[in-house]
Amino acid sequence: MKIEAFTVENVPLIKERDDIASIICNNADIMDNDIIVIASTIVAKAEGRMFRPEDIKAGEEALRIAAEHNADPGFIQAVLDRSREVLADFPILLVETKNGHVCIKAGIDGSNVEKGYLVDLPEDPDASAATIGKAIEDISGKKVSVVVTDTNGRAFKIGQTGIAVGLYRIHPVKNWIGKKDLFGKNLEITEEAVADEIAGAANLLMGEGDGGYPIVIIRGIGMRCDEDASVKEMYRPDREDLIKKGLRCLRQNR
Ligand code: GDP
Ligand code: MN
Ligand code: MN
Repeated sequence: MKIEAFTVENVPLIKERDDIASIICNNADIMDNDIIVIASTIVAKAEGRMFRPEDIKAGEEALRIAAEHNADPGFIQAVLDRSREVLADFPILLVETKNGHVCIKAGIDGSNVEKGYLVDLPEDPDASAATIGKAIEDISGKKVSVVVTDTNGRAFKIGQTGIAVGLYRIHPVKNWIGKKDLFGKNLEITEEAVADEIAGAANLLMGEGDGGYPIVIIRGIGMRCDEDASVKEMYRPDREDLIKKGLRCLRQNR
């Protein structure tokens, strides 16, 4: 078996209203079943989601958290504005975004964006992935999947990795339950987080710094599915989430 992963060359610094689908099609020969992996940073930039923290007026909670973190109060207010729940506020500011993604500081990021500016995640990353995916299909005439990624930490481990935050025509989880192992035993719980694995693989080529490679094409794993795919398929329901329950307990007992 073999998988190919390669960068799209000649991607410019992305500005508001840039057409990412055209940039991809102008600089790569797309094939059927390609998985186009795109860093959320450039999706958000094209959607105009850059802002200056000093333009945001911080409320009481933001001022308190900002003081603890020695952070810009406008930045913290922006995080709170994009969150439906704060799961921890110190020593990490861990939130669930309005979109259901649990991450540090709502994914708001100051790297690879102009000095003085921050960049948000896309507001609805599945919708962004679908818009770009359909445009690529229109231009190229090929059938593709899209994964929009961000860099996130993991609980228990040092080091960040690429993860999926938005999807078009690829289910995020592959279910192995009911399949057999090498010895004929039934697999009972294994679900493979394929979208995060693809994001991690692509992130190896993107890197995190000044590489200038926000788009990677993964070829050789056909996972294209119906249009109903959503990143939310992999968000564990609240009632089954032991870690969230534990974090809520900690906050109540502070
Ligand atoms: P994130 O993981 O979505 O937060 O994005 P990163 O900031 O880690 O950037 C991922 C890759 O995209 C790195 O190779 C960056 O150099 C690159 N990158 C970020 N913004 C741009 C841009 O506007 N143009 C180009 N060409 N590369 C960018
Ligand atoms: Mn990021
Ligand atoms: Mn990154």
